[in-house]
Amino acid sequence: PFEVLIVGGGPAGAAAAIYAARKGIRTGVAAERFGGQVLDTMDIENFISVSHTEGPKLASALEAHVKDYDVEIMNLQKAAKLIPAQTEGGYHEVVLENGASLKGRTLILSTGARWRQMGVPGEDEYRNKGVAYCPHCDGPLFKGKRVAVIGGGNSGVEAAIDLAGIVAHVTLIEYDSQLRADAVLQRKLASLPNVKIITSALTTKVDGNGERVTGLSYKDRNHGAEHDVELEGIFVQIGLVPNTEWLKDAIALSPRGEIEIDARGETSQPGIFAAGDCTTVPYKQIVIAMGAGSTAGLSAFDYLIRLPTS
Ligand code: FAD
Repeated sequence: PFEVLIVGGGPAGAAAAIYAARKGIRTGVAAERFGGQVLDTMDIENFISVSHTEGPKLASALEAHVKDYDVEIMNLQKAAKLIPAQTEGGYHEVVLENGASLKGRTLILSTGARWRQMGVPGEDEYRNKGVAYCPHCDGPLFKGKRVAVIGGGNSGVEAAIDLAGIVAHVTLIEYDSQLRADAVLQRKLASLPNVKIITSALTTKVDGNGERVTGLSYKDRNHGAEHDVELEGIFVQIGLVPNTEWLKDAIALSPRGEIEIDARGETSQPGIFAAGDCTTVPYKQIVIAMGAGSTAGLSAFDYLIRLPTS
C-alpha cells in the first residue's frame, strides 16, 4: 500500500507525485495514459518561463522528472471504482478496470477532463491543424485569421469575445435558436464589429486541404439549406467533461461532475484530495493543474503527519 496514491498522470498528477515523493513518503501513480491531455497538444506557448514547447516533449519531461524520484508509476491502469476508508487514517481502495486494486492512506485524484467533440467528418483529421478546443492556448496562433466558434453557451461566447480581439473575424455558430450565454456576455459580443452570429445551425463537417482547415459546412436548421464558411480555424466550445464517472457514489461532485475541493485541494472525504481539470478549479490550464497538484501533494503530507501514530 501507498502513503500517497495518485490516480491520473497528467500535469496535476505528476506535480503531486514529485511533491509527495520529495517528502520521502511512499508514492504511487496509476494512470490510464501517463502524460494526459498534454500528449494531444501540439504547440504550448503559455507554460510560463518556456516560450515554446510541444505536448509530447513536455509529457516526456514530466515523466522523466517524476522518475528522478522513488515513485512507482503504473501506466495503462484505469480506475473503475473508489472505496473510501471506513475509518480516519485507514486505507482508501481504488479498484482498477482489470479487477486489481490499489490502496493509499491518502489519495490524490487527478484524472483530468476531455473536450466534448462535435463528431463530424474532418474534426479528428484536422485536430491541431486548425481545429482547436482551448482559446487561451491556441487563440494567438490564429492572429489576423478567420475563425469560427462552435457553441453559444458561456464558454463559446467568452471564447468569441476573447478571439475577436486577436483574429480578423469570428463566426459564432449555435445549434439552438438563441445563444445560451449570460446576457452581459451576449451584449458584449453583439457590440463587437468583427463577429457574426449564426443561430439554428448544425455544423456538418470540417473542410480542409489535407494539411489545414480551410472552412466548415453547416446546415440551417430552419430551412435545411447547407452553407459553407471559409476560414482558417475552428474552436469547439460545447463542453469540457471531467473524467469522474467512476467517482459518482464515493465523493461530492458539482452538478457538472467536477470534484468539489477546498483551498487545500481536499474533497468531501478526509484524506482524499484532488487537483487539476477534474475539479471545480475555474480555469483548466497546465500551469494551473501543476500548481493544484503541488497543493494536493503538500496537503496529503500535512494530513499524514497529523494522523495519530498507531
Ligand atoms: P489531464 O492532462 O487530463 O490528465 C489526466 C490523467 O488522468 C491522464 O493520465 C489520464 O490518462 C488519467 N485518467 C483519466 N481517467 C482515468 C481513470 N479512470 N483511471 C486512471 N487514470 C485516468 N493547457 C495549457 O496550459 N496550454 C496549452 O497550450 C494547452 N493546449 C491544449 C490543447 C489541447 C488539444 C488540449 C486537449 C488541452 C490543452 N491544454 C492546454 C489544457 C491542458 O492540457 C490541461 O489543462 C491539463 O493537461 C490538465 O492536467 P490534468 O493533470 O488535470 O489532467
